[in-house]
Amino acid sequence: VYNRKTPQEIIDTDIEKIFHQLELDRYLSPARKNGLAGMVKRIRQIAVAAEVVIDAEKNVQETHFANAYRGVYQFGAQIDDELEASREAVRQLINATDRSEICFTSGTTMSLNVIASGWGKKFLKPGDEILLTLMEHHANLVPWQQVAKETGATLKYLPLTADGQLDLAECESYFTDKTKVLAVTGMSNVLGTINPIAELSQLIHQVGGILVVDAAQTAPHQVVDVQADQIDFLAFSGHKLYGPTGIGVLYGRRELLEQADPLVFGGHMISRVYQDHSSWADPPMKFEAGTIPIVQAIALKSAVDFVQGIGFETIHQQESELTQYTHQQLEKIPGMQIYGAAPDEKGAIVSFTIEGAHPEDLAQLLDRKGVFVRHGHHCTMPLHDYLNVSATVRVSFGIYNMKEDVDRLIDAIEFARGRLR
Ligand code: PLP
Repeated sequence: VYNRKTPQEIIDTDIEKIFHQLELDRYLSPARKNGLAGMVKRIRQIAVAAEVVIDAEKNVQETHFANAYRGVYQFGAQIDDELEASREAVRQLINATDRSEICFTSGTTMSLNVIASGWGKKFLKPGDEILLTLMEHHANLVPWQQVAKETGATLKYLPLTADGQLDLAECESYFTDKTKVLAVTGMSNVLGTINPIAELSQLIHQVGGILVVDAAQTAPHQVVDVQADQIDFLAFSGHKLYGPTGIGVLYGRRELLEQADPLVFGGHMISRVYQDHSSWADPPMKFEAGTIPIVQAIALKSAVDFVQGIGFETIHQQESELTQYTHQQLEKIPGMQIYGAAPDEKGAIVSFTIEGAHPEDLAQLLDRKGVFVRHGHHCTMPLHDYLNVSATVRVSFGIYNMKEDVDRLIDAIEFARGRLR
């Protein structure tokens, strides 16, 4: 079917017609048909997501596998074109001005390390301040600790409200002429908090600093616009956007990418090499030393096209309905503590603890019922210290999740509670 139809056509296939063809419609009530149609659509969405990405990878490996930006032979040229098409798709996804502002890396962590190392270590000095928030993933925290250690700059944390949000009025006083960087997540991977990037951008630019956005959790769920929000650097990973692992994106404003030093040195990132020194290629090549994950980078385009085909409005609507329903259902459970803001004020992530149940035990028991959740500190130890818990259980939603999944989660929690009593 995939070979004959576009992914969107598969998703949109009229399920009523199929029920009719299979002579099922007389056995199904309208409500049941409706429920099944919704379920089939979601299952197709993820099957197609997986399929278009796997298909793109397979196609490169099987038909024209070659290294990139090196050969003039046919396969090499085709690979170069496909990589550039993927770079262009990412440019459009985040509305960057120019394709040269999109560098392929191995993921968010690597991108943030390049920024911290290549820009932070080069330009910061004692007395300068780096602003972070208490909800940062370690990927957007530990690299800045290293920058502070090596440059003498100081780390400062923007405070959180009781429900895990940034209170802009309270944050304002943290922005001074000493502030050189604000590194902030677009969406918390624990609380689901969606940060006010446009407002933070104004605050940091008013004092002459740069804005670094960790978009690992934002890119799959909402529109990212680096021009509208005046974002200076941004990072995200392919694998959270229904794409392959091992591929990520570093966006930088062209001028900043030109100023920053590369983090990894070697082939392909140079302009000229002499026996005792070298000069660098222009961005993005300057940040793409060695052989990049070519196959994954090409397949990233399929993931981007897939997500855009569904549309962020639909994604938001589906995910926010699920988040609200999850809160409603979880709140009925005795001993339940949900962390973060109200469901209509955050993204599709719900972290919680249940009195008397260790998160690891809970996660293990939920797994027995086929419900996969993450437990632990989720790479946010300072946030968990602040929340005064060592671990939480986290439920997160993608485009393929359905109300039925939440019902299954609730049943599984009841099962777990029974076992842990
Ligand atoms: N930042 C956030 C907010 C994340 O949720 C994650 C991953 O969970 C990362 C950064 C790190 O991403 P990666 O492991 O793909 O480098």
